[in-house]
Amino acid sequence: MKKLIEGLQEFRKTYVPAHRELLAQLSQAQKPRVMFITCSDSRIDPNLVTQTEIGELFIVRNAGNIIPPYGATNGGEGATIEYAIHALGIEQIIVCGHTHCGAMKGLLHLNKLQEDMPLVYDWLKHAEGTRRLVKDSYTNHSDEEMLEVAVAENVLTQIENLKTYPLVHSRLYQGKLHIYGWVYQIETGEVLAYDPITHTYVHPQSQIVDDDADEPTGKPFVKTSAPPVACEYAPAKVLHSDMAEQSDNEASQEPVPTPWLTPESVRSDLSRIQQEQLSV
Ligand code: ZN
Repeated sequence: MKKLIEGLQEFRKTYVPAHRELLAQLSQAQKPRVMFITCSDSRIDPNLVTQTEIGELFIVRNAGNIIPPYGATNGGEGATIEYAIHALGIEQIIVCGHTHCGAMKGLLHLNKLQEDMPLVYDWLKHAEGTRRLVKDSYTNHSDEEMLEVAVAENVLTQIENLKTYPLVHSRLYQGKLHIYGWVYQIETGEVLAYDPITHTYVHPQSQIVDDDADEPTGKPFVKTSAPPVACEYAPAKVLHSDMAEQSDNEASQEPVPTPWLTPESVRSDLSRIQQEQLSV
């Protein structure tokens, strides 16, 4: 506690005088551009990691960066999402998981949790889709690999949960909302972003789209050892120059109004459905 109180004094002494204008501006209203949903884990600091200032991120945190599906609970997550989109006009949401996530470890060993932490056990029911997918599809992996997969897949499960909210559904349809899946690597401080075209986690620089430019900017895709994942989500503006060049379809270079109906996502959906049929 002593450390925290000293921190308060230091904040007032150095940060506040240097940011008086910003703080005065923020006292009138907030205008964050991005909603950031992440785990409560103390090793993640959204503002530090993204080098953003006070007022730039609207943050939701809980164990396991979980969004209960619409109507499943009457908790704070749904209300916060509604407020972010409707009242603040936020158009970008990031769901950010992280390596070594305790909640995901718990999810993989649910039977141990029920007695010791019944509330966590109940909460993790909103990640049951992740548990089931990992259990059914990733059998011959070490515990460490299973955890990595669970973290990566859970980000996508929670994006799917997010899409069950009527407001999110509607804004996605209008092309006024973009959702991104990130995984923060505690060891290296690196963030990998889900790419719906390649179904892998890639360096997020490759997904930067300059609103004023015709072509996406940033570095090329870098394949990682992150597991392949199955997800139907495909944001309209996440197009990559390499992918666009490889594509025979000229139309795929244009933003499309209904994000999930890109040719890539339809193709991937088809191949996923075919694979599912084969495996039945
Ligand atoms: Zn965590």
